[in-house]
Amino acid sequence: MGLAVLPIHAYTSEILETVAKNAVCVLIGETGSGKTTQLSQMFHQAGYTKSGRIGVTQPRRVAAVSVARRVAFEMGVQVGEDVGYSIRFEDRTSSKTAIKYLTDGCLLRECLFDPELHQYSVIILDEAHERSLNTDILLGLLRRLVSKRKPELKVVITSATLDGEKMSDFFFKCPIVRVPGKLYPVQILYSKERPVSYLDGAVQTALDIHVSEPPGDILLFMTGQDEIEKAIAKLEEEVQSLDEGSCMDVVILPLYGSLPPEMQARVFGQPPDNCRRIIVATNIAETSLTVDGVVYVIDPGLVKQRQYNPASGMDSLAVVPISRVQAIQRAGRAGRTRPGRCYRLYPEAAYEHELLAATVPEIQRSSLAGTVLHLKSLELPDIDILDFDFLDQPSLELLEDALSQLYIVDAIDKSGSITALGKRMAELPLEPALARALIAAEELDCLGQALTVAAVLSCESIFYNAPRQGKEKKRAREHGSLPNGRGLGDHIQYLQIYDAWEKNNFDLEWCKENGLQIRAMKFARDVRRQLGQIMLRKKRDGEPEKRESSSLRKVGSARALRQALCKGFGNRLAHRLPHHNGYRCIGHKSQLVQIHPSACPLEVDEEGLLPEWVLYHELISTTHPFIRHVCMVEGSWVEPLLKKMDNMDIRGLSGRKTPIVPEKRLEDDKAMVMARTGSQQVLSST
Ligand code: ADP
Ligand code: MG
Repeated sequence: MGLAVLPIHAYTSEILETVAKNAVCVLIGETGSGKTTQLSQMFHQAGYTKSGRIGVTQPRRVAAVSVARRVAFEMGVQVGEDVGYSIRFEDRTSSKTAIKYLTDGCLLRECLFDPELHQYSVIILDEAHERSLNTDILLGLLRRLVSKRKPELKVVITSATLDGEKMSDFFFKCPIVRVPGKLYPVQILYSKERPVSYLDGAVQTALDIHVSEPPGDILLFMTGQDEIEKAIAKLEEEVQSLDEGSCMDVVILPLYGSLPPEMQARVFGQPPDNCRRIIVATNIAETSLTVDGVVYVIDPGLVKQRQYNPASGMDSLAVVPISRVQAIQRAGRAGRTRPGRCYRLYPEAAYEHELLAATVPEIQRSSLAGTVLHLKSLELPDIDILDFDFLDQPSLELLEDALSQLYIVDAIDKSGSITALGKRMAELPLEPALARALIAAEELDCLGQALTVAAVLSCESIFYNAPRQGKEKKRAREHGSLPNGRGLGDHIQYLQIYDAWEKNNFDLEWCKENGLQIRAMKFARDVRRQLGQIMLRKKRDGEPEKRESSSLRKVGSARALRQALCKGFGNRLAHRLPHHNGYRCIGHKSQLVQIHPSACPLEVDEEGLLPEWVLYHELISTTHPFIRHVCMVEGSWVEPLLKKMDNMDIRGLSGRKTPIVPEKRLEDDKAMVMARTGSQQVLSST
């Protein structure tokens, strides 16, 4: 097919020999060297697919899909046949599938149903440098599995920039294969100081390059979709005002995770002749997806990162400085086809002294409730969660927070053992809170409704333009002819909207007229169907499907639904302050919050006061601490949860009688917290 020879091809025999002789190996190669697209084909050709599949994990959904398509194309087959992919709620594989790209979350779920992962002969943990939460857990699980399935199972850990020694040590000093990158020199240019607005600074830099530098595409890093759209609007405006004929043509393209596939394809397609492309991308272009033709990189030095604070239960999505490893990766994007340039919009001193050496792994900045439930449900022999083989240990605070969350939703008992309910929860591809709500809904006879709500909450947003500023969204919601949640809250509104869509025979035009995202609505319908199947299968194996599915149609009252949600969201309840409309989150996280302006209006009493108790889906710090996706609940439902919380003994939950914190661990934790708070200075938030 005339495909390019990639750096990794020169190492084929070395790689195959190493893999043949060892159960595990680490492979390090520059982005673009061919790890993601070629390794799987290499093992396929070497015969490894005779005894099982080759599974390749990706931390991002979009990467899994995009790479599977690419490999299918290279092999001249259809996606879903010899090459397939599997991401949450979408499985494009068949019995023919030999090479399977899947998200790390998907592989983790497969461990539940087949702990020894027998369908695979080779597992490639790709993009390990991203250190996603799920990849980190998989590392720990595979570490146990390789010795068990020796010699049939081969594990390859691949990374662009990882500290190979550390990974090799973790895997019993396994060999490291390095594929030298064919990187051309990249000249780094620093700004004297940070621009007042990095968006304006980046746009201006792109224009300067376009007007005065020789041909070559420009890759500009922004932190999110909103910003990308703003930057593109500005660029387009400025480009229009350039003198016609004064410089070459230009196309400006966005690249981010939730971009529709046909739009993404434009970035990978052949650019028109004699035309410069400016690609405005999120972090996804840093290592996951390789865009060819880039010669100039503009790096404002920032990334949007989620950070969970176990003390307040708050997730913040903040724009923070990237690490030095990331800065180096970004610069590297400029030197793939010929010598390039990287414009860092920050001073050299900031690079040297302000940036962290490496990014804090996700496992040290996420809520671990889902992860801990998962590990508990695997019932690994002789294992204590606090002793799990983590490449980097999460703080004790995070682990204890997870245990207490699980206890409140009845997933573990007083001594920290997983309950029957907890096992069922783990089998659902949902966060523990939603899983618990679905099971409660089944008992309260409103499963159909709860499925709808869970499905809608699994979408990014069903409202068109929704992630914009609160006020705009509020307006869109109020002026449309959409139902209003009857003053009970967002969850009820989601249900009403979905039901109205169903009444309109799932008409797509109807979605458009009502300002709803067609893609999201279709996704919700699909997710709802899948979750329904899983729930019914789990409920009573063997009973005829027909009778069961009628139970999904049963219309319960919205009251039962809210009660079911309350069971799941026992960790996320908020109590209104006595005389005004602020709320205080309950539990040890007595954070003061407000309801996010995008919420649909809740019922108020004669004094204008909001409901006394609400549950929320998300506690997020943007300009203020806000709760989002809010629904009214009743005091009598909350009471037993409060009691449970009061009687909780965290030491018991950890399953240890002796004090759970060895001296050394305490010190490590302290050092880690200091390292984090010292340098993760928040520059601005969105
Ligand atoms: P790595 O995983 O080492 O970063 P990849 O296997 O992703 O490398 O990429 C190898 C080469 O394949 C790159 O030159 C890249 O441009 C090309 N490639 C990858 N995905 C696509 C795609 N979807 N379309 C066109 N080319 C692609
Ligand atoms: Mg890759």
